[in-house]
Amino acid sequence: MIHYQSKQLMPTLRETPAEAEALSHRLLLRGGMIRQLASGVYTYMPLGRRVLRKLENIIREELDAAGAQEVTMPVMQPADLWRQSGRYDDYGPELMRVKDRNNREFALGPTHEEVVTALIHGDVDSYKQLPLTLYQIGTKFRDEKRPRFGLLRGREFVMMDAYSFSEDMEGLDVSYEAMFQAYRAIFSRAGLNYLAVEADGGAIGDAGGTHEFMALADIGEDTVVTCSCCEYGANLEKASGRTPGKSGDGANNAREINGIADSRQRLHTPDASTIPELCGLLGIEPQEIIKTLIYEADGKPIAVLVRGDHEVNETKLQQAVGAVMVELAGADVTVAATSSAKGFAGPIGLNIPVYADEAVMAMENALVGAREKDWHLGGVRPGVDFQPLSVGDFRNVKEGEACPTCSRGKLVFRRGIEVGHVFKLGIKYSVPLNASFQDRGGRQSHYVMGCYGIGVSRLMAALVEQHGSETGIVWPREVAPYNVHLVVIAIADAEQRQLAEKLAKALSSANLDVLVDERNERPGVKLKDADLFGIPDRLIVGRSAAQGIIEWKVNGESREILWEKAVEEITLS
Ligand code: ATP
Ligand code: MG
Ligand code: MG
Ligand code: MG
Repeated sequence: MIHYQSKQLMPTLRETPAEAEALSHRLLLRGGMIRQLASGVYTYMPLGRRVLRKLENIIREELDAAGAQEVTMPVMQPADLWRQSGRYDDYGPELMRVKDRNNREFALGPTHEEVVTALIHGDVDSYKQLPLTLYQIGTKFRDEKRPRFGLLRGREFVMMDAYSFSEDMEGLDVSYEAMFQAYRAIFSRAGLNYLAVEADGGAIGDAGGTHEFMALADIGEDTVVTCSCCEYGANLEKASGRTPGKSGDGANNAREINGIADSRQRLHTPDASTIPELCGLLGIEPQEIIKTLIYEADGKPIAVLVRGDHEVNETKLQQAVGAVMVELAGADVTVAATSSAKGFAGPIGLNIPVYADEAVMAMENALVGAREKDWHLGGVRPGVDFQPLSVGDFRNVKEGEACPTCSRGKLVFRRGIEVGHVFKLGIKYSVPLNASFQDRGGRQSHYVMGCYGIGVSRLMAALVEQHGSETGIVWPREVAPYNVHLVVIAIADAEQRQLAEKLAKALSSANLDVLVDERNERPGVKLKDADLFGIPDRLIVGRSAAQGIIEWKVNGESREILWEKAVEEITLS
């Protein structure tokens, strides 16, 4: 189809929005692809919506091919259903809660385990109907403590969530594997540079398996541990053999947090005078440390801040903090590390990579009423209601340690964005919701479940992190909002106009979506906008139109070509 740019809503921004820390946030705003309504709440503008639709369609195709079936379940979920699984209380403040006119309580779905389990219980009663995998793509709500980085962490966002029901554990393994492979196909087709890593199921029983799909990007909040030689890959919690302070399906945080609080009590009280020396021993060279600050309240240390210079890498800081925590921190002391690297003004990485957000919050909380020295507050807002829950010893996993799998390679730490998660739930939900079927022996058995999520809107932003630069984006072809961007330099010029018409028609009749920039704008404006839109194949009709010659720009590389030849190459590729 031919789409004329003058008729489209594609409002680009010349200025870089000051509030946008992440590259993807800046580019999606500047390219007119998203607009913010409230914190963590966005409109997908026409161009952004087109990319999202491409991603959704890739997901649909691959999941359908894997035998999953699409449904749409309600966003509004009765609180009573959530009480049955125990999650109405456990989920905590991340769950958005609403009441109807009769004061009945509802949750706005952050995920749909309860709903789907109840659904299957009602309509499936025999092993003959299993296995079954259902999925949906839709809006999810999570009242994130710290929505940030645009689409990377929203409060209302688009997720694909799927649920598998099997007769037994072997059946679950088969369903899980099918979804795992479908995820690989989805992320590869989307053009994402990703790793599938082992994750930790959390304190509350998972049925023995969970993996996270991590888009590799510096902005990522997770740390991925990989091997220089073999396929080994795990998130940091898994690699260090620790149980993280949250479970993979977002549930039961409260109980796990209690567990962590208990372990904090065992740490001894810090001796403040030893901190500077200790930081020096933690793998950071003394000259890399600008200062170590101790915050006190009522004469007692409540927070320790290790400040490294811009050369100190984040991993080192994280390790340092993990170690300080264990060596020094008492139950009431928060430790964080910062550096000025990459222009971060506030705390980065922080004491526990699992919970970077919470560490920042802990720091903020600890700073309330603290005797403040010359610490740059950056984005820190003291007074946030928060229970410190960061504690961790990651010293058993270090970069350059031997790989636990092949023992030949060395461990390498990388930053990742969690774009997908697959999780063996087992009977975690089917037992409390009393959901069972008649098994082969004629007995009642509980469904053995798996759950699977992809952050679709987060995936869109992760792609921008990987395929963007400050000048613009180059979308991978499969997800580009249009197939070809046809830019007419001087629309008043009859030769250029006619050639553009011919080109557009030829491409459109080959079933391609062509965006034609026929606006009466300066060439500089048009080309800057084109960079922001990021359509990978750009055809520029300019001065050589009379000779039938155009400029074809792919990935920043330009060449002059006869227009018929360009059509032939593009339609054949
Ligand atoms: P995170 O660790 O980033 O908070 P999660 O582990 O809580 O994510 P899951 O419960 O596993 O998230 O949800 C499935 C997927 O939904 C995640 O892998 C992620 O891609 C996406 N997702 C989760 N929270 C958000 C959010 N606030 N904004 C955008 N996408 C999200
Ligand atoms: Mg997670
Ligand atoms: Mg997860
Ligand atoms: Mg979360």
